[in-house]
Amino acid sequence: MTHRPVLTHTRAELADALSRLPGTKALVMTMGALHSGHLQLVREARELADHVIVTIFVNPTQFAPGEDFDAYPRTLDADMDALETVGADLVWAPAPQDVYPTPVTVSIDPGPIARVLEGKTRPTHFAGVALVCSKVVNLVRPDVALYGQKDAQQLAVLRTVFTQLDIPVRVHAVPIVRAEDGVALSSRNQYLSEAERAEAPRLYRELQRVAAELKNGNLDYVGLETETVRRLTEAGWMVDYVEIRHAESLAVARTGDKALVVLAAARLGTTRLIDNLEVSLA
Ligand code: AMP
Repeated sequence: MTHRPVLTHTRAELADALSRLPGTKALVMTMGALHSGHLQLVREARELADHVIVTIFVNPTQFAPGEDFDAYPRTLDADMDALETVGADLVWAPAPQDVYPTPVTVSIDPGPIARVLEGKTRPTHFAGVALVCSKVVNLVRPDVALYGQKDAQQLAVLRTVFTQLDIPVRVHAVPIVRAEDGVALSSRNQYLSEAERAEAPRLYRELQRVAAELKNGNLDYVGLETETVRRLTEAGWMVDYVEIRHAESLAVARTGDKALVVLAAARLGTTRLIDNLEVSLA
């Protein structure tokens, strides 16, 4: 039996609603515009704790000037309907002043892991993610927090930050949920034109091609990366990166590594898509 989740906005409302939830808590943090990927996080969360808390917050500190903070879709009513179907207990949808009641002078530098891959194109992004995730975990105090493998680097950054700052929460990773044609579900997919959406599956197909090459024993990582950038560019993509890295540490892959991940970010028109695929050579 599912029920309408309790909707809260202010910190006081959140604290009051939390005090009415005895037992263990699982946290799912989102920016809203929910799709089946987000809902899968909630489903897995239900298996891990007595209560599921979902946050919906488009966090300004993780967007740089010129990124899509203003345009980012905000669909709270539809999100509440969707969350009712998967049985979330409590939703916190704060305004920026609820999360940042005073001007923020503290920042969290997650270190070298925040400066590669996404961090090269978005140099302030992971400091913003680390800040908001640490604050929300401190406010909700969940036993476990769930994050999608879709944002593999975010997962690695948060594991690093929570571990090194002794923030007492378990991190649980959820595999990527894809559309039938392979495209990783993302709130940003709705920016794509019809023609771009038809082109979008190429990104995952390229990751699969690299994975097959690796499994066939082609360990020329740089050659594979360069070739993939060339193929995507030829098909009209503006590629930020295609990189083969160690699946857990995200360190540059070395010969002999068995757990690899191929990560890519590229733009179709003005929409930036990211995707990744883990490859086990064991
Ligand atoms: P977002 O709303 O984009 O910040 O995403 C919120 C959470 O949902 C993050 O932990 C994402 O990694 C996760 N997520 C988003 N899309 C997917 C997907 N297609 N599959 C699995 N997890 C996802």
